[in-house]
Amino acid sequence: MRLSRREALRAAGGAALAGMCLQSGPARADDAADEMTLVDAHVHIINSRLPGGLGKETPLAPFDKDQPEAPLRLARTVEDQMRRAGVTEALCMPRVEVSDDDPLGIRHNLAMAKLVEGVKLHPIGLAHPERFDRDHLKRVEEVLERGDVKALKAYLGYLHYDPYCPAYRPYFKLAGKHNIPVIFHTGDTYSRTAKVKFAHPLKIDEVAVDFPDTKFVLAHFGNPWIMDAAEVLYKNANVFADLSAFLIGDAAAFAAMEQEGVLARVAERVKEAIAFSEAPHKFLFGSDWPLAPVTAYRDFVKRMFPPQHHGAVFGGTARELFRL
Ligand SMILES: [Zn+2]
Repeated sequence: MRLSRREALRAAGGAALAGMCLQSGPARADDAADEMTLVDAHVHIINSRLPGGLGKETPLAPFDKDQPEAPLRLARTVEDQMRRAGVTEALCMPRVEVSDDDPLGIRHNLAMAKLVEGVKLHPIGLAHPERFDRDHLKRVEEVLERGDVKALKAYLGYLHYDPYCPAYRPYFKLAGKHNIPVIFHTGDTYSRTAKVKFAHPLKIDEVAVDFPDTKFVLAHFGNPWIMDAAEVLYKNANVFADLSAFLIGDAAAFAAMEQEGVLARVAERVKEAIAFSEAPHKFLFGSDWPLAPVTAYRDFVKRMFPPQHHGAVFGGTARELFRL
């Protein structure tokens, strides 16, 4: 019996926790990873605390302050996951909490980045649609000037604001000025209180046109509206996409999906949209760990591209776009 996506989310969380005990011995990168080092453009190493009941369900919830030893255990798990997949750099999604001291919500990611060895973890800053006052934006710019973040993120859908609402515009301007992309959550969400109309990828066309000097990334390639997303990529030179979270679950779930032909079927569907975009060089590998095992997800994304594009999708494009 197939799990619903929400059930798979819970299963993936359990697996992420169990993984800390189950996987023994030094992590070794397998075949593909020996050839190149990968960039994972979409991971969560802290609980993002998105509104709408995700707090309890998200796999990272137990790693919050109620378990003081948890960050270290989490760091070892992250190292293990990334090493096995050959990932040497990863972009870490922010928490939906900002303060005067931490105007982009990156404090916890910076702390985790210090604990994790062998993998460079790059924080992504939160573009908060309710914080656009001059003082806040001034503090945001100070962080950007320090070079502490590689991108900004807008949680469309989870937060009920359109990408073109006035509150986001100063963030797009700042991102363009400091030459970092803005990543949008696009497509389906895992929160019951999210409103998906805000996360439709077609809406990004409007900001892509209005801010030609800013680069934008459609996280999840707008799934399930991938043809709309493909059109936005095709039309706008400044729009990119990551391929995370098309499928989620633990290693057993991915093995079952392989058996049932689900991986092949979904990869074919995505391939069609990639072809329509005529821009295979504008796609990024992202695992959305811990929602999927990094190695299994890497192999799934590999199926979407012929080998000549793997270098770009699994690192080259991300290194250029995020200036890693
Ligand atoms: Zn994510």
